[in-house]
Amino acid sequence: MRKKLFKSESKRLLDLMINSIYTNKEIFLREIISNASDAIDKLHYISLTDESAREKCEMGEINISFDKNARTITVSDNGLGMTADELEENLGTIARSGSLKFKEEMDKKDRDENDIIGQFGVGFYSAFMVADELTVVTRSYKEDTAYIWQSEGASGYTIDQTEKESVGTDVIMRLKADSENENYSEYLNEYRLKNLIKTYSDYIRHPIKMPVEKHREVGEGEEKTFETYTEIETINSMVPIWQRPKKDVTDEECFKFYKDKFRDFTDPVSVVKINADGLVSYKAMLFIPAKAPFDYFTKEYKKGLALYSNGVMIMEACENLLPEYLRFVKGVVDTNDLSLNISREMLQQSYELKAIATNIEKKIKAELKRLLEKESEKYLTFWKAFGIQLKYGVVSDYGMNKENLMDLLLFYSSKNERLITLKEYTENMAEGQANIYYSCGESLSAAKGIPASVIARDKGFDVLYLTDEVDEFVMKTLMTYNEKKIVSVLDEDNGLVSEDDRKKAKEQAEKSEELLNFIKDALEGAVSEVTLVLGLKDFASSLNTKGGITLEMEKYFAQMPGENGVKAERVLELNPEHSAFKTIESCYKDDAEKAKKYAKILLAEAELLAGLSLSNPQEFCGLVSELLK
Ligand code: ADP
Repeated sequence: MRKKLFKSESKRLLDLMINSIYTNKEIFLREIISNASDAIDKLHYISLTDESAREKCEMGEINISFDKNARTITVSDNGLGMTADELEENLGTIARSGSLKFKEEMDKKDRDENDIIGQFGVGFYSAFMVADELTVVTRSYKEDTAYIWQSEGASGYTIDQTEKESVGTDVIMRLKADSENENYSEYLNEYRLKNLIKTYSDYIRHPIKMPVEKHREVGEGEEKTFETYTEIETINSMVPIWQRPKKDVTDEECFKFYKDKFRDFTDPVSVVKINADGLVSYKAMLFIPAKAPFDYFTKEYKKGLALYSNGVMIMEACENLLPEYLRFVKGVVDTNDLSLNISREMLQQSYELKAIATNIEKKIKAELKRLLEKESEKYLTFWKAFGIQLKYGVVSDYGMNKENLMDLLLFYSSKNERLITLKEYTENMAEGQANIYYSCGESLSAAKGIPASVIARDKGFDVLYLTDEVDEFVMKTLMTYNEKKIVSVLDEDNGLVSEDDRKKAKEQAEKSEELLNFIKDALEGAVSEVTLVLGLKDFASSLNTKGGITLEMEKYFAQMPGENGVKAERVLELNPEHSAFKTIESCYKDDAEKAKKYAKILLAEAELLAGLSLSNPQEFCGLVSELLK
């Protein structure tokens, strides 16, 4: 038969496929299998009303085979098949709306072609990404004649009559020769093909069968040997676990699915099954893992949920389905309300996707709340792995999510000696306690040891020990909980020192101004102010800051690239009722050199209590040894 040319728009698409440098070429198989599955569905549908079709309608199945020598992969179905006219119509032009849309997108200027192909299929022609010749042998349920369609790409195609025993279609793809950059032969491999089917087409409703190589023992005793044989196996699992009625699937089955699919060895903390039937219908199975994957805090970690449409995976990790603070959630979303052929950009703006994402966010938060209230052990496991993520969620986006998240936060309580919620804290506040107190430090013992923290506890107040770098920002973002102010034990005006004591300390500081200035000078710029504080009990000195940047923030910024300049303004607080202060006071008059040394010791004490390391340990040790002489 004479060679026919492709219609011009098809040609453009074809060129694109043939010359595709797109890395995800492997989706071709998914596309051809989807077509086969559709063809089976169509025949079933037609046979509901068409007697003659019913006779030809068997149990649908898709068979896949490959031939290493001929370099071919064949996908056969027993679907409705095509007549000569249909072949012409369907494979000679861009018939379907999805391809057409794709082409329209392509025609827009400044588009990155490869980005648009993305992970979305463009159907039959995608086979040209890997094949240099496509052959379609097909027989329609409507007639007895079979046809063969053949094309080597852009040059055109031929259609001829041929023989085919049964109704259906075989698509034979002859793979391109391997090149320096591309290894097409990799698809001529049982393992690789099985993997592709599992990855992309596991939930196609019809069995996808393939001959699989097996080994068995033959013979007896001495004669015993192994022989290789092939067996046809169904590769796909057909009904996805999330499509089965919720009550029919046990958590164990879901967990097994999670571990297989997301390659985790540990059971997740929880599974959330959603069957939503509203403006947008979708099913989802979501998992809250128990452990952060090893790459969780790196750029390599891919946030997102697997997105399916009609049993076909269209995206492995759809980011837009999850807010950043829930990036640890894994799972699948399946909806028939999204077109398979939609480009990635269009998908991102899709109303349906947004509706699903909003709903998912709500469900996950509700599940976390349920765990916290009903299964605290599990919540603690989750918290250990991902609590920090929720904290980042509070501070990110200008605190937009804080209302949603504050009840899910846990902090270590001095009174309870365990993690508690802010709700628990406020429900058990001491008589007359106005604020929620926290104390920051590198470790629990550092947060505990800060003089102001000791003083707060002595007053009978519970103190939350904060040890994560982001913690102080979390508290500053929250500001209040249940109308109670959240304050640091180091904050001025935090109610730990009485108004009276503050006034007295101020008066005394004015009187001792000369001494305080002397101490400040002796410390050679280490602090910006030296002041007196009453109520420090047994502590001679304590370190505080002024001007908004706290010591914790300084540490936080020190870790960020390019932010090393941020320094807290240190204030050395001295206890005028302590004997050390009296000593330095008298010494300053008689022996200024000695007073300088005492000043340094008082600063070092305060630094250690604040959980900081000493700026000059040798000097400090020298000073202490001198005292012991
Ligand atoms: P789509 O499947 O999205 O419509 P394709 O480019 O993949 O687009 O295929 C074009 C058309 O060719 C299909 O709509 C279908 O009518 C026909 N077709 C493709 N594969 C088969 C098949 N295995 N059996 C019957 N018809 C097929």
